[in-house]
Amino acid sequence: MSETATRTEHFDVLVVGAGISGVGAAYHLTTQCAGKRFVVLEAQDSFGGTWWTHRYPGIRSDSDLHTFGYRFKPWTSAPIATAAEIRSYMGEVIQENGLDQHIRYHHRIDSASWSSEAALWTVAATRTDTGEAVRFTANFLWMCQGYYRHSVGYTPEWPGMASFKGRIVHPQTWPEDLDYAGKQVVVIGSGATAATLVPAIAADVAHVTMLQRSPTFFRTGRNAIALAEELRALGIQEEWIHEIVRKKILFEQDVFTRRSFSEPEVVKQELLGAVRKELGPDYDVATHFTPSYRPWRQRIAFVPDADLFKGIASGKASVMTDEIERFTETGIQLKSGKALEADIIVTATGFHLNVLGDIAFFVDGEPLAFSDTVTYRGMMFTGVPNMAWVFGYFRASWTLRADLVGDFVCRLLNHMQAKGVRYVVPMPRPEDADMRLLPWIDPENFNPGYIMRGIHLLPKRGDKPEWQHTQDYWNEKDAFPAIDLDDRVFVYG
Ligand SMILES: Cc1cc2nc3c(=O)[nH]c(=O)nc-3n(C[C@H](O)[C@H](O)[C@H](O)COP(=O)(O)OP(=O)(O)OC[C@H]3O[C@@H](n4cnc5c(N)ncnc54)[C@H](O)[C@@H]3O)c2cc1C
Repeated sequence: MSETATRTEHFDVLVVGAGISGVGAAYHLTTQCAGKRFVVLEAQDSFGGTWWTHRYPGIRSDSDLHTFGYRFKPWTSAPIATAAEIRSYMGEVIQENGLDQHIRYHHRIDSASWSSEAALWTVAATRTDTGEAVRFTANFLWMCQGYYRHSVGYTPEWPGMASFKGRIVHPQTWPEDLDYAGKQVVVIGSGATAATLVPAIAADVAHVTMLQRSPTFFRTGRNAIALAEELRALGIQEEWIHEIVRKKILFEQDVFTRRSFSEPEVVKQELLGAVRKELGPDYDVATHFTPSYRPWRQRIAFVPDADLFKGIASGKASVMTDEIERFTETGIQLKSGKALEADIIVTATGFHLNVLGDIAFFVDGEPLAFSDTVTYRGMMFTGVPNMAWVFGYFRASWTLRADLVGDFVCRLLNHMQAKGVRYVVPMPRPEDADMRLLPWIDPENFNPGYIMRGIHLLPKRGDKPEWQHTQDYWNEKDAFPAIDLDDRVFVYG
């Protein structure tokens, strides 16, 4: 905790982070918890979170904005949106609801300490613009800090990296001055970031190679939703279009997800068929676009208007499926014996999973390891009072869950007020005494690298839905509003 903060400000609720979840939390508090005094603390210079941090060329969503957008604010443009469009939408939410008065930028939270005696969190932060130490107390902490470290991306160590004479760049910290025009570029990785970046720079570079160890599934199609266009042409109001199109997308996603489990081979062939159609009969889809895992074990990125495949078909972009042996002065030596020449190497290799914002947590003076706790429905933790966490969906848009958690937290806060209690903490009930404790997520179900690298840091899950992040929007949309706040799982005091 900071030693030098000279005064302490108090709020009923302290929201960590002004990304899509934190701005959503501010909206829900404003509209559902009248009179609650709250503040949103954000380490960066502005709102947006992911959409502020990431500046690489082409940065865009990989899911549609009807469902990635909030339930309460219609999305009126093409479904796959750029970071700038998403920030502008969030900016409207902030402005239309007077949320800016609650948000403080340049506030990086360093520690949070719970005192059972005072039933308060004490939060120590540093102003990133002045270096000043600041301190807050809050009755409730609403953690909206996302799931990865914003300051730096994940880059594996390869032999010889230091000898490379060109530039090595991570997309999360894209240098403003990076001139890639006419250059040979290698992008390592083939997730959503690589699939966005490669077509975005293909026209300007001499050549860009997407180098992957193993292939990824993609979906492709027009960046438009025909139903939305039809309804708009009929003059239907945007609130209705938003609601109808959300329902349609969610229904289709649900069918797709279920089919990925019930008939994975059929789904796989459909996905590969769409890629073949774009790349032509002579392209080696088997080597470069046929993953070994079944569809949906990792997030499936949407490639709007097939731009990645068009870049490949144009000859300006290509895919190499191979393994890196080492970096050389002029590029990358591959295990197959081939070599790639490069002026710039982009490591689109993912994130550092970040459990609860790299904040040092204490409960009654004892350091808190979240891996020692069990999650209550992926949003609260056993033994951690007055705290909720927003962790969205992997297979559906994150914000769907941010809205559901928002409703739950506001209902809980209002319930606590009505009961006149100072704290709530989820605890196993007698019937949970022999519950089997498991890792946060089953790797058989979902296993991207950043989760697998950090799973030991995440809270445990139990073997009942109450003690899991089920990743099932269709269940949670009905289950969350029906949660009995007087269930014995909630211990009040
Ligand atoms: C490039 C990219 C594209 C993505 N596309 C999609 C998509 O299309 N659909 C989808 O569903 N998901 C997508 N995701 C996942 C995405 O991160 C989430 O959907 C969503 O943006 C997370 O929002 P958030 O507000 O919860 O967290 P974030 O966007 O991560 O924002 C968290 C905020 O908290 C702040 N913060 C963290 N720690 C502290 C601290 N200690 N003190 C103060 N502030 C702190 C951070 O600075 C940040 O501004 C994408 C992720 C990336 C990286």
